[in-house]
Amino acid sequence: MPSLQIDTVVKSYDSFTAIKGVSFTAEPGEFIVMVGPSGCGKSTLLRSIAGLETITSGAIRIDGRDITHAEPSDRGVAMVFQNYALYPHMTVAENMGFALKMAGRPKTEIAAAVAKAAKILRIEEHLHKTPKQLSGGQKQRVAIGRAITRAPDVFLFDEPLSNLDAALRSQMRVELGRLHAELKATMVYVTHDQTEAMTMATRIVVMNAGLIEQVGSPLDLYNRP
Ligand code: ADP
Ligand code: ADP
Repeated sequence: MPSLQIDTVVKSYDSFTAIKGVSFTAEPGEFIVMVGPSGCGKSTLLRSIAGLETITSGAIRIDGRDITHAEPSDRGVAMVFQNYALYPHMTVAENMGFALKMAGRPKTEIAAAVAKAAKILRIEEHLHKTPKQLSGGQKQRVAIGRAITRAPDVFLFDEPLSNLDAALRSQMRVELGRLHAELKATMVYVTHDQTEAMTMATRIVVMNAGLIEQVGSPLDLYNRP
């Protein structure tokens, strides 16, 4: 299980600075939940870790390895998006295996990785469907499965449950907790949902206006007298 170190990261867009010098370390196997008001920079920070944004200054390291300037596919991270971002013309199995295929991995290895992820997420019976034949909850499982097949060092989640109804959200919270325990993975999870933060986080990072305002366990942050 790797650590993720964010070291004095700044991200500016023209004259606007979205991240104003943020540092924190996710220890191996932590489930970090980042919360904070809309526009405070959570998504920008996550996308910077994923390499979808180029940071202005600072450094990002996984187990001490500097990934600040690495290609998204070479970072050892996998991101799950709120809108699923599945390839509509590919089957579920093809979606889940695509990154491995692009990396030139053998078919047998891809099939094994896809089968394993499908079993963990209980979507084995949907492998040959296309995304439009799936419910929202099933699509989100496929998006998570696509991250799992890459066996990343760090999982990044950007509000993955926000498009689901309340019952499904509560079910998926339990499943994500199980997934974290089973994969023993390091995870960074962005949400504006306090229940998600309370139930899933090992530590909560509270952001405000491009800065980290507070870091603490769910008990520390929400049960203060
Ligand atoms: P959050 O995820 O916390 O809601 P974001 O990270 O999406 O916040 O956005 C942080 C700030 O950066 C917001 O004020 C947003 O308007 C701004 N921002 C995000 N992307 C861009 C961009 N491409 N150009 C200019 N400003 C941006
Ligand atoms: P690769 O080159 O191995 O596909 P990337 O890190 O570029 O690695 O992308 C990994 C996966 O994440 C892709 O398969 C793609 O589905 C998804 N992805 C990456 N960036 C985006 C994005 N901006 N929007 C939607 N999906 C994305």
